[in-house]
Amino acid sequence: MSDADFDIIVVGSGCAGAVAAYVAAEAGKSVLVVERGNYAGAKNMTGGRIYSHALKQVFPNFEEEAPLERKITHERIAMLSPDSEMTIDFTSAELAEEGKDSYSVLRGPFDQWLAEKAEAAGAEYICGIAVEELIRDGAGKVCGVRAGEDEITAEVVIVAEGANALLSERSLGNPRPKPHEMAVGVKEVFGLPADRIEDRFLVPEGEGAAMLFVGDCTKGQVGGGFLYTNKDSISLGLVATVSTAAAGANPVPVYQMLEDFKNHPAVAPIIRGAKMVEHSGHMVSEGGYNMIPTYTFDGALVAGDAAMLCMNLGYMVRGMDFAVASGRMAAEAAVEALDSGDTSAAGLAGYQRRMEDSFVIQDLRTFSKWPHFMEEWDTMFTDYPVMVKEVFNAMFSVDGQPQQPLRKRIMPIVKKRGLIKTAMKMKKAVSAL
Ligand SMILES: Cc1cc2nc3c(=O)[nH]c(=O)nc-3n(C[C@H](O)[C@H](O)[C@H](O)COP(=O)(O)OP(=O)(O)OC[C@H]3O[C@@H](n4cnc5c(N)ncnc54)[C@H](O)[C@@H]3O)c2cc1C
Repeated sequence: MSDADFDIIVVGSGCAGAVAAYVAAEAGKSVLVVERGNYAGAKNMTGGRIYSHALKQVFPNFEEEAPLERKITHERIAMLSPDSEMTIDFTSAELAEEGKDSYSVLRGPFDQWLAEKAEAAGAEYICGIAVEELIRDGAGKVCGVRAGEDEITAEVVIVAEGANALLSERSLGNPRPKPHEMAVGVKEVFGLPADRIEDRFLVPEGEGAAMLFVGDCTKGQVGGGFLYTNKDSISLGLVATVSTAAAGANPVPVYQMLEDFKNHPAVAPIIRGAKMVEHSGHMVSEGGYNMIPTYTFDGALVAGDAAMLCMNLGYMVRGMDFAVASGRMAAEAAVEALDSGDTSAAGLAGYQRRMEDSFVIQDLRTFSKWPHFMEEWDTMFTDYPVMVKEVFNAMFSVDGQPQQPLRKRIMPIVKKRGLIKTAMKMKKAVSAL
């Protein structure tokens, strides 16, 4: 019988931490969650839309219980030059099918709901205090946390501290992410009545749209804009790499990018008459599979963004479903290790096995080349949106002069960028996806 204060301590109550706490408490383990925010969700941020499959595995009735905003049934991808927009707008019944569905969420209410589920299952919570370090026993195994004046012990610590993974770096020795692997996200939420949102996005009542932008929104830097419709608000923001800012070479600061983005002709009409009710900023990891650190240690596991489980493919952003699934798998492996009486790295190896066998590691591995490809693809953020504008202007404008065949109008636009160069770049992009 262990004399530790708890079987499991979870650091952080985001998607990963709260789900880990819920699963472990449901399995009958004593669980303490330490959350630095005054309440779960106080400091958290997402775009954001959650793909529901991972949530459904843990909470089969989440659709009835969770504070979801809208079911996302419309996908839009927009290319912006400073004065033009080309948008693909897609909807289909399949996007709404159970298991493939996704929902916009606001992290304040959503994370509080997750924390309530964990508490109802028996997990204890301490909020408003940060874990400063993990403590180790004489043999070097992680055996608890130090938070303020307190040292609290546990057989297993699940580190779910999010993308700013200081404990993972300081106490577990994982490497500090490089500037090109991290981005900064800024977001504002605009209140707008539900019927106006439905009219502006042409969606049925209760349904919503997700929109990703590339080009002028980040002023040529790697990154992009995002927009998600909530019940009676719109989440609007952008993500931009920190590498140019870190090098002191950012020509436009991120806050100014957001101001200009809001005034862009593609965006201003969407938020016209809406009142800003919230703004936030957060780090996000963008390096994908190649920046996943070690996540199984003697007495400790790392889950969610703390393990850099996030993916931005340009047409979709995923992190919350990885966080939910990795939190669940960390808890299952911790419970298994506790039951077998071995919470060393070998005893906790079930976490790595589960992760490797799941969509989490497999999806991140499949798209491992994409982040590096994006970093080098500066034309996607600068010249391609202009090229697209020129192509569509050539196609749609009529000025009364005799028109040349469409091919003769479009080819020079592509040729001046190098036909083969452009085709090769596209081929490489497709193969990285
Ligand atoms: C701008 C932006 C847009 C995004 N859009 C999307 C999207 O549309 N869809 C999607 O799936 N993902 C999106 N993501 C990614 C997604 O938000 C993350 O993958 C997800 O939040 C990870 O959950 P988590 O539980 O691992 O970490 P977090 O949600 O960050 O939770 C970590 C928790 O740990 C707490 N904590 C941190 N340090 C300590 C400490 N020392 N002691 C105690 N508590 C601590 C924090 O307060 C927080 O509550 C986006 C991210 C950003 C920044």
